[in-house]
Amino acid sequence: MKTVSTVPDLRSAVASYREKGQRVAFVPTMGALHAGHLALVEQARRAAGKVVVSIFVNPKQFGPGEDFERYPRDLAADAEKLREAGADLLFAPAVDVMYPPGFSTTVHVAGVSEGMEGARRPGHFDGVATVVARLLGLVLPDVAVFGQKDAQQCAVVMRLVADLGLPVEVLVAPTVRESDGLAMSSRNAYLSPEERKAAPALFRALLATQLVHELGERKAEKLLAAFRLAIGTELRLELDSADLVDAATMRPVEKVDRPVLLAAAVRAGRTRLIDNVVFGG
Ligand code: AMP
Repeated sequence: MKTVSTVPDLRSAVASYREKGQRVAFVPTMGALHAGHLALVEQARRAAGKVVVSIFVNPKQFGPGEDFERYPRDLAADAEKLREAGADLLFAPAVDVMYPPGFSTTVHVAGVSEGMEGARRPGHFDGVATVVARLLGLVLPDVAVFGQKDAQQCAVVMRLVADLGLPVEVLVAPTVRESDGLAMSSRNAYLSPEERKAAPALFRALLATQLVHELGERKAEKLLAAFRLAIGTELRLELDSADLVDAATMRPVEKVDRPVLLAAAVRAGRTRLIDNVVFGG
């Protein structure tokens, strides 16, 4: 696996794949890689002959007071994991490579970015859409792979790609979990042992709510109440948000008469954890 950090080196490596007639799949990440990221690499390998992964902790998608400074960074360990996972090229640019002097563009995807995480983290999805648009423009992949764990991010990226007519196929990979159900996340590294023990209650509460739906409840209000009740039993987690939205548009629904996304965020101490399940329809 080759590692590059400049745009010309990235472009010439990708051009050499193209000359050999290889399709290119791309997996954007912020590093601190875990099995969830490596599953995206695996899916990318199945989709194309060459796999490009980026590692860039994108300052534009962190709000004031969020964890940009303390976000875990370990490029050497990440590169080793990617090499073992069979990635071909790692693009690890510095901030001034991604945002050179004079950079002036912000990509705003209206609608799908406005509720849920978008409402609670102002500017977050503008940061995501801007970095993804630039990365797609630099790599020019045939396929790009994103994780269902960040469901609203997937919706934003799909809208962006459709609206700008970008010639890339977006694939969404299922959430990879620890054996106790906790969704893998780079931020899990912040959890104290006590918080780590409490954290799987988030996924259990999502599953319990899905069960309430399977037992016949269709009203969003009732399902959200069931979720709040379930999460309330874990006193070490503080509920931050819970939303039941149309899985395609990310707009709130009143009843489950189509595929819906139940997405929630909790705080375990200083750490914010998110997770979701899709059901209905
Ligand atoms: P991040 O580095 O956290 O920004 O994530 C990079 C990509 O990996 C995004 O598309 C995430 O949705 C995806 N991802 C993160 N955690 C998981 C997970 N547990 N399972 C599947 N995909 C994930």
